[in-house]
Amino acid sequence: MGVKVSTKYREIRCPICNKGKFIDVGNSRGKNSVACNKCGRFLILDWDKMIATAGATIKQGC
Ligand SMILES: [Zn+2]
Repeated sequence: MGVKVSTKYREIRCPICNKGKFIDVGNSRGKNSVACNKCGRFLILDWDKMIATAGATIKQGC
């Protein structure tokens, strides 16, 4: 039948710096906590919604 299996990698871009990219190569589900390798900010990746939100900010002093 020649049905093509879609193996598109999903990608979420860092919402803070817009440079970092997170590629899903393992059919991720749910949420991941990652650090952007461009700006170093922590992000929560939500693979169900395909969005990234800023994670817990690093506490600095007061
Ligand atoms: Zn970033």
